[in-house]
Amino acid sequence: MSTVESPLPDKFTANFKEVELPLSNQEALNEANRCLYCYDAPCINACPTGIDIPSFIKKIASGNMKGSATTIMTANPVGASCSRVCPTEELCEGACVLNHSTKPILIGNLQRYATDWAIKNDQVLFKKGEPNGKKVAIVGGGPGGLSAARELALLGYDVTVYEAEKEAGGLDTFGIVSFRLPKKISLWEVEQVEQLGVTINTGVRVGKDIEFDELLKTNERVILAIGMGNVPNLNVPGETFNGVHDAIELVRSTKSSPFPTHLEGKKVVVIGAGNTAIDGATCSVRLGAENVKIIYRRTEKEMTAYDFEYEFAKQDGVEFRWLTQPIEIVGDADGNVKGLKCVKMQLGEASSDGRKRPEPVPDSEFIIECDAVVKAIGQKRHTDFIEKLGLAHHDGVILINKDSMQTSNSRVYACGDVIFGKGQGEAMVVSAAQQGKTAAYHVHESLKEMYSA
Ligand SMILES: Cc1cc2nc3c(=O)[nH]c(=O)nc-3n(C[C@H](O)[C@H](O)[C@H](O)COP(=O)(O)OP(=O)(O)OC[C@H]3O[C@@H](n4cnc5c(N)ncnc54)[C@H](O)[C@@H]3O)c2cc1C
Ligand code: SF4
Repeated sequence: MSTVESPLPDKFTANFKEVELPLSNQEALNEANRCLYCYDAPCINACPTGIDIPSFIKKIASGNMKGSATTIMTANPVGASCSRVCPTEELCEGACVLNHSTKPILIGNLQRYATDWAIKNDQVLFKKGEPNGKKVAIVGGGPGGLSAARELALLGYDVTVYEAEKEAGGLDTFGIVSFRLPKKISLWEVEQVEQLGVTINTGVRVGKDIEFDELLKTNERVILAIGMGNVPNLNVPGETFNGVHDAIELVRSTKSSPFPTHLEGKKVVVIGAGNTAIDGATCSVRLGAENVKIIYRRTEKEMTAYDFEYEFAKQDGVEFRWLTQPIEIVGDADGNVKGLKCVKMQLGEASSDGRKRPEPVPDSEFIIECDAVVKAIGQKRHTDFIEKLGLAHHDGVILINKDSMQTSNSRVYACGDVIFGKGQGEAMVVSAAQQGKTAAYHVHESLKEMYSA
C-alpha cells in the first residue's frame, strides 16, 4: 500500500489519528461468535450494497480472514471505508435481530477488522475478467466511479477513470475527516481497482483538460460519477473577509496539501448542522481553535447530522446555538473576520417538504464575536458542466431512468451524489457504491449483444 504523508504540522498529527480503536483479536472473535447467522438475515437487506453479513462474520469466527474480506469487498468495492463511515445504526446494525434482546452485533467494527486484515497483509482480492475489447470511460474517481470501474473490470472491460484531483477516492480521500477515515484506507481501495488493470488518470478535469465528446468518441459508454461541488456562498455581506472558510476545503487542507488552515487559538463559528458542519467543527477543534460554535437556523430536532456525529461533536466540546441565522460577517479595518451578525429565528408553518419554516424574530439582531467563520450549508452542484453536456437535470441533479441509470443521452450513465436529491437516494458512500455497481451492470447489459455478435 502506498504511504500517505500528512500535510499537518507535527503538533497536530496526533489530533487527527483515528479516534475509534480497532477490535482486538479476542474482541472480534467474541463478537463474531455472538452472531446468530440468521437465515434470511435482515442485516443483509438493510445494507444498500447487500453484503452477506452473516457469511463474512462466520468467516472471521473460523479464521478465514481473506474469505471474510473478499465477501465484504465483493459486494462493496469501498467496503473498508464504509466500515468506518456508514451510519450502521441506521442500516445493518439497526436491523440486527439482537436489538430485540441484547445489543446488535458490531457489524461495522467486524467489517473493519476483516478489511484491516486485508490491508495489513497486502491482499489482492480480485482478478480482472477476460478482456472483451470494449471501452468504458468513467468521469470521477470517488466511491461511485470506483465501484463502477471495479465491476466493469471484473467483467473484462477496458476502463479509464478521469479524476480531477491529484488522488482518486473522492470525498473518502479528501472530504471525510482523517480521524474517522484515514486517507490510506481509501487509497488502498483505489489500488485494488488499479490492480485490475483500470487506468486512473488523476489531475485530469473532464471539460477542461479533455473534452467530454472525446470520451464519447473513444468509448462505447461513459459513466458520470462527478459528485457534488464545494459549499455554496451564504449570500451575506462580508464573505470575502480573511478567515471565512469552506468546510470541505478546510477538511481537504488537513488531508492533502496545501498547508492546513490556521485556527490555533481562534474563536470559530460553523454555519450549518449537517455532517459537513460537524466535520468542519471537529476539525477546527483539532486544529487548536479556542472555541467552536455551530449555529443553525432550525432546532436540534431538525438537524440533519447523524446522531453519532452530533454526540461526537459534543464530546469534542463544540457548542450549539439553535434558531440562529447569520445575516452579516463583520470584519475589521484589515479585512479580517471579527464577528458574525445573527438574528434569532422561530419556527413557523411547515413548508412543502414538511419541515417548519424558520422565520426571523423582529429586532433580535446580535453579534457573536469570532475570528473565523466556516461555511457548511451543503454542497453546490456541477450545474454548468452538466448543462454543457446537454444532459437533462433538475437544479444540477442529473435526471436518470431509474431502471437503467441512463441519462437523457442513452450512452451516458450516472451514479452517486450527482444523482442525489430531488427525491433520489441519499448522499452516502455506501449508496454511491451500490449505484456504481448498478450503473456498471446496466452498461454491461446494453453492450452484451455487441460482443456476442
Ligand atoms: C464533509 C463530508 C462528510 C461526509 N461524511 C459521510 C459519512 O460519514 N458517511 C457517509 O456515508 N457519507 C458521508 N458523506 C457523503 C459521501 O462522502 C458522498 O455521498 C460520497 O462520497 C459520494 O460519492 P461520489 O463518488 O458520488 O462523489 P465524490 O466522492 O464527490 O467523488 C466525485 C469525484 O469526481 C471528481 N470530479 C468531479 N468533476 C470532475 C470532472 N469534471 N472531471 C474529472 N473528475 C471530476 C471529484 O474530484 C471527485 O473525486 C460526507 C460528505 C461530506 C462532504
Ligand atoms: S441480524 Fe444480527 S444476528 Fe442475525 S445474521 Fe445479521 S448480524 Fe448476525
